[in-house]
Amino acid sequence: MLEFNSLALLPSIQQAIADKGYKNPTAIQAQAIPHVLQGKDLLGIAQTGTGKTAAFSLPLINRLGMNKVKVKSNQVRSLILTPTRELASQIELNIKTYSKGLSLSSAVIFGGVGHSAQRKALSKGIDILIATPGRLLDLMSNGYIKYDQLEVFVLDEADRMLDMGFINDVKKIIKNLPPKKQTLLFSATIPKSILGLANSLLQDPVKVEVTPENLTVEKINQQLNIVARKNKPNLLKHILMKRKIRSVLVFTKTKRGANKVVEFLEKNKIHSAAIHGNKSQNARERALNSFRSGKMKVLVATDIASRGIDVDHVSHVINYDQPMEPEAYVHRIGRTARAGREGVAISFCDETEVKLLKAVERYIKLPIPVDTGQPYHIDLNKLPAAIKKKKRPSQNHKRATSRRRNENRAGNKSTRRPAKRPSRRSGKS
Ligand code: AMP
Repeated sequence: MLEFNSLALLPSIQQAIADKGYKNPTAIQAQAIPHVLQGKDLLGIAQTGTGKTAAFSLPLINRLGMNKVKVKSNQVRSLILTPTRELASQIELNIKTYSKGLSLSSAVIFGGVGHSAQRKALSKGIDILIATPGRLLDLMSNGYIKYDQLEVFVLDEADRMLDMGFINDVKKIIKNLPPKKQTLLFSATIPKSILGLANSLLQDPVKVEVTPENLTVEKINQQLNIVARKNKPNLLKHILMKRKIRSVLVFTKTKRGANKVVEFLEKNKIHSAAIHGNKSQNARERALNSFRSGKMKVLVATDIASRGIDVDHVSHVINYDQPMEPEAYVHRIGRTARAGREGVAISFCDETEVKLLKAVERYIKLPIPVDTGQPYHIDLNKLPAAIKKKKRPSQNHKRATSRRRNENRAGNKSTRRPAKRPSRRSGKS
């Protein structure tokens, strides 16, 4: 097995890795770092949880640290573009840790907070800039960021950029970058348009791929709870009270659903908070910090908000609602069992979700074992007949359903791929 000390990384970086407690490089790190250190472009097919942040950060810091130059005002030596604020903050945290002692400057910029601190930071010139696309474009178009000194460009979670409607912004940003640079592109999946982007962006790249699906499925204890829709809140309460849970991420389909779960838990004296796109940056950060520090045991999230939640000790993931896309199941449960740890993933399935569950099981190529011992268990075949044989809905019911559907559409774009690019502002990058 490859060891960190066989990689040509600066001693202070080796020390930071040791301090962090990493023993061996993860698969993506072992495959990517040697090539990136040689200055090669890279196409990395990997998702969060695989250690991809260090896979690009360590060689990037090494390169900039080996060759220090004075960064001119509003210039940046490297740019890491990532889709969400949480991911951006997380990456910056990692960069600061790995680059300790090297006097490299870093800054993070994203929307939802004031401009002035970000402008001030940029005016000094930055070695490593981590940004989400919307705010970056704003600052670029006002002349606050220049790329004459750019050496390395990292495009993180390219497929998510596409899902979130940021891909045109990303392309605009890329147009402004100098042609001569090292480029690293990471994506969990490679849909056609990302392949096109990769082909135009990368020069003679090395391709490395890690497939966390199998890994995730093996390491995580997965359980399925069949439950009538109306009993979901009680089942959640039961699990939170009865099981030894250190920290749990609860996934809901919609933002409204997330808020409702939190309301229910608070009523039952279980401290929790929701994070989703309608929450302010401060509220999200407060919730995340309190969850990270262990003060708050339960964090409720929608799929998009969950990207980039890098909390080491998530012991349980609860899929309160089935994911709309089976891939999201793997992303969700990958929040537990991070980097070699074990975790438990409990999924609820009610009478309206059987199809979604089947899609998940097809995708992971495994049936999820059913927990028949939980007090709200019902036989899958005895779930209310509603979905199996759809009754013709009454006019009132139709109106209510259509209203609900519209609300969900407006309130939660996280689970569906937008047909058109939503406005940058609404994405709140
Ligand atoms: P990432 O995929 O970059 O979000 O990383 C997932 C988690 O793995 C983070 O908590 C990292 O701190 C951790 N991690 C990254 N590299 C290693 C490593 N070589 N050994 C152990 N943990 C790691």
